[in-house]
Amino acid sequence: MSFSDIVRDEHAALMQTYSRFDIAVESGRGATLTDTEGKTYIDFGSGIGVNSLGYADPDWVAAVQKQAATLAHISNLYYNGVQTSFAKRLCEVAGMARVFLGNSGAEANECAIKLARKYSFDKYGEGRSTIISLQNSFHGRTLATLSATGQDSFHQYFFPFMEGFVFAKAGDIDDLRSKAGGDVCAVMLECVQGEGGVIPLESSYLRAVRAFCDQRDILLIVDEVQTGVGRTGRFLACEYSGIKPDIVTMAKGLGGGLPIGACLCNEKPADVLSAGTHGSTFGGNPIVCAGGNVVLKKLTSDGFMEQVAEKGGYMRERLASMPNVREVRGLGMMLGIVLEKGEAKPAAQECLKNGLLVLTAKTLLRLLPPLTITYDEIDKGLLIMEAVLKGV
Ligand SMILES: *Cc1c(COP(=O)(O)O)cnc(C)c1O
Repeated sequence: MSFSDIVRDEHAALMQTYSRFDIAVESGRGATLTDTEGKTYIDFGSGIGVNSLGYADPDWVAAVQKQAATLAHISNLYYNGVQTSFAKRLCEVAGMARVFLGNSGAEANECAIKLARKYSFDKYGEGRSTIISLQNSFHGRTLATLSATGQDSFHQYFFPFMEGFVFAKAGDIDDLRSKAGGDVCAVMLECVQGEGGVIPLESSYLRAVRAFCDQRDILLIVDEVQTGVGRTGRFLACEYSGIKPDIVTMAKGLGGGLPIGACLCNEKPADVLSAGTHGSTFGGNPIVCAGGNVVLKKLTSDGFMEQVAEKGGYMRERLASMPNVREVRGLGMMLGIVLEKGEAKPAAQECLKNGLLVLTAKTLLRLLPPLTITYDEIDKGLLIMEAVLKGV
């Protein structure tokens, strides 16, 4: 099918919820994509941080194919060894006690919200259900996670939104304290605000939030949907500050390209979600878990995470010296580029024209390359980026 046929059908058949770039991707290998016209691109976006192992990783493909041919789906009414081996490994790597498996980041956060509220309800009764979220945060597109998102632009059209969310200024512990009345059961935050513009929170702030939550038996929910699964050079971004969340959510990179969401918790609320209080038809699907098992195995192999940090550092240094770059920020291979002049979206479009896929976040260019990208691919991409930035 030609590009124009695809665009025609997309306009006719799909709700027009996305403003897409002018490219239809057909295949991928490593960090390199090929479009319907046969043109190749270096991918610095990995499907918004999803293709953590790049495209068509041979071990991931073999595991997924094998599982599809063995048992594609079985309901959660029955036990399944692939699901349990994945869950066990995930809890071990994350240093958490239990996990609930769903299908997306928003769903993982929905589970976190329900878990925190029920933990508090079971222990303290009604009236302690408020969750403090941060200004400029992003937690998803369902009604509860939109309500938890600290950006006014998301609080439109779909009224009424959910009650029970208040927003504190990111990085300001006094503001958070002043907003924490007796009705608060949880604080929810991203260690690096992703969609908000790649803004890392200070370690000292994160530690202060942790200490405050401990004092008040408030659960700390860390949304690692974008930052988790090795993206920042550690399995979880919160490891950099040394804090341990009570609840942590992951999604994007966890399945290596398959839809998954995971809500993990420590011992404290481990038994709160009992039979019948939560569930998912697809959650913990065997094919997804088979893919996830390969992701976890690779990520925990010797030197893998160090390599992510190294490659991130290399990209950051090269980018910082490029023309028209005011600032490069982020952690590991989650990078935001603040431009001196020109807008991010046209710059991203110019990159695309020249064979490089990049993302944007607010006014920034945003990079989330596959964690397995080679230095050769990085250099090819950076060369294109430099030429584009010169011309902006
Ligand atoms: C992407 C993202 C989500 C939403 O994930 P979906 O899989 O799109 O539902 C939630 N939180 C953060 C921090 C994200 O980056």
